[in-house]
Amino acid sequence: MEDRTIHEFEFTLINEFFTELERQGPGSPEETIRALSFIDNLSDKTKIADLGCGTGFQTMVLAQNTKATITALDLYAGSIDKLNATAKKLGLQNRVKGIVGSMNDLPFQNNEFDIIWSEGAIANIGFEKGLNYWKKFLKKDGYVAVTYESWFTDERPTEIEKWWMDAVPEIGTIAHNVSIMQKTGYIPAAVFTLPESCWIDNYFTPQKARQEEFLKKHAGNKTVENMIAFLRHEADLYSKYKQYYGYVFYIGKRI
Ligand code: SAH
Repeated sequence: MEDRTIHEFEFTLINEFFTELERQGPGSPEETIRALSFIDNLSDKTKIADLGCGTGFQTMVLAQNTKATITALDLYAGSIDKLNATAKKLGLQNRVKGIVGSMNDLPFQNNEFDIIWSEGAIANIGFEKGLNYWKKFLKKDGYVAVTYESWFTDERPTEIEKWWMDAVPEIGTIAHNVSIMQKTGYIPAAVFTLPESCWIDNYFTPQKARQEEFLKKHAGNKTVENMIAFLRHEADLYSKYKQYYGYVFYIGKRI
């Protein structure tokens, strides 16, 4: 198919597709907990913002593994409704609150949070721009913890280089991203790559049945056909080129 980025597809359609899935990006409870293990001084006073939370899979993992109060924010109202319903079902509604909003224009006070969390979402604002802008909402010594698409090698085959330059033009190597963390005012506390299972078992495989169902539901809709073709292509590229890129957890402490 012709090259195009996911951003060109309708926001609502993408979200309608993904909100029926447990996760909207690569990740796992184990990796969320691993990232949490690098953060000091967690208590029942800890305040976390989870930006681009989606339906909140990682939000619930954070809530179940801390005593923190969590504000989860996403642009898509359908995801927030689902997140708040899940929080209620798990009895976490007193500590977990989903709100609709944009990570580009946060409805928070300066120095409000101990931790800003964001899995698979910072590319929507940009890695550098996000780290820069979000910093003022953190207390001094607060932490940022994000997963972000990163190159594992200095050189890549053209096909995958071109695809990512189109999807996330800012994509860089791990060393480059760590230097951005430092430049934007954080001390890198930990950096680790997400295992392949986070992509394959938790992201691509669960999409397969949903893709069939979505194509049936929207039979004849060219936008939907293109979107599914894009997602299938993304999965094929991952199996072909996964030694060259992946998601990396970046954890930094605000200076
Ligand atoms: N953290 C979740 C979802 C990742 S998908 C997970 O790992 O499963 C990325 C999410 O970012 C989507 O839910 C999308 O609606 C949201 N998003 C995109 N642009 C946004 C913006 N400007 N502000 C807030 N959320 C945004």
